[in-house]
Amino acid sequence: MQWSWKRIPAEYLVANVKLYQGGKIARRKGFMHVKKGRIEQVGAGEAGREGLPVLDGRGLVCAPGLIDMHVHFREPGQEEKETIATGSLAAACGGFTSVVTMPNTEPAIDHSGMVRYVVDRGKEAGLCRVFPTGAISKGRRGEQLCEYGEMVSAGAVGFTDDGSPVTDGNLMANALKFARVLDVPIISHAEDLSIIGGGVMHAGYWSARLGLPGMARASEDSATFRDIELARATGGHLHIAHVSTRGAVDIIRRAKQDGVRVTAEATPHHFSLDHARCRDYSPLFKMNPPLREPEDVEAVAAGLADGVIDCIATDHAPHTATQKEYQFDQAPFGVIGLETAFAVGVTYLVKSGVMDLGRLLELMTERPAGVLGLPYGRLEEGAVADFTLLDPDFTWTVRADSFRSRSRNSSYLGETLTGKAGATFLRGRLTWRDEEVLADDPAPRRGA
Ligand SMILES: [Zn+2]
Repeated sequence: MQWSWKRIPAEYLVANVKLYQGGKIARRKGFMHVKKGRIEQVGAGEAGREGLPVLDGRGLVCAPGLIDMHVHFREPGQEEKETIATGSLAAACGGFTSVVTMPNTEPAIDHSGMVRYVVDRGKEAGLCRVFPTGAISKGRRGEQLCEYGEMVSAGAVGFTDDGSPVTDGNLMANALKFARVLDVPIISHAEDLSIIGGGVMHAGYWSARLGLPGMARASEDSATFRDIELARATGGHLHIAHVSTRGAVDIIRRAKQDGVRVTAEATPHHFSLDHARCRDYSPLFKMNPPLREPEDVEAVAAGLADGVIDCIATDHAPHTATQKEYQFDQAPFGVIGLETAFAVGVTYLVKSGVMDLGRLLELMTERPAGVLGLPYGRLEEGAVADFTLLDPDFTWTVRADSFRSRSRNSSYLGETLTGKAGATFLRGRLTWRDEEVLADDPAPRRGA
């Protein structure tokens, strides 16, 4: 039987691929046998199974589907920016098969009915696994805790008031206690609004030069420290979202050495770009936390390399073109990230020698799965066949029409990056193919 992209069979072989397993890329070519959405067999060499349709991987890297534990899909309430369906397509396009949505929609995801709504919309779209988080407090107002038990039963994988910090320390401590019983993380948006004031970019040389109000590192550092002390006191699992300062990396490192139950994530923009990018007042470089100084960027990258920061998460935050055309100080915070995350990782971490490709993929698969306790992110026999074929050498220039997301607010527009997903499979079924990376006719492009 011949392989056909148009009609993916229920059983097939993926051959001629470099397999990612356990933080490493195999040197020898390998294969994977997919049967009814599961991995039947995976390993080096040839499968030795006659008669099955063969997908020729053309020497690409075969990795578990990427996992992004921090995305904003804007549904319900701001569907003009992104919906669960368009966000899921953007995810598939970026090589992702699982995403975790943030609850700061309108209305917020603050009860079990809303959690179920996100789960159902995700299934309807059918392009990646959509795991919702619920809000820590009702309406994200920081006053009253939500009903965590019911929300976990409905499918919530953690709780966060992301977008805003939890100002009341006692409320945060109680959230950690309840989450501990349910064995889910409390995700901290670590920010002290009394320190931030009306800041719109990192407080430093460039904010002074541009005459824009700054966001001091002390805001993130002190909030990170407070939440870690609450995790230490309660024994709850604290996850720090979007780490951006050298100080926060140090605080998390010490807490981990002390045995505090803390995990952390960093975004592609925080390990690749610094505050000088704001020099032309472009809102495409406005996000919260802000782009910081070169020493912070370096500390975040080093933290990812040595394991202090557990995983890469995009903080994919779509906004309409109109909003991103506002003046810098008026524009909303946030940039999209799903479709460039792998390429930014390859370009800024692997090509620059901070880590190898195996480590990068570990930070985008096994590690986030471990933080959330999800049974994904590994290519092994019996596992569900969520995988992606990645070309780590494919060079492309990011353009507005490159995106499948409903929004275009990327910090990398016009930039040439290396690395792209050629095809993404969810439960063995194709969710995305990039026809430039993985053309119908294998002959002309690469000799692999
Ligand atoms: Zn946040």
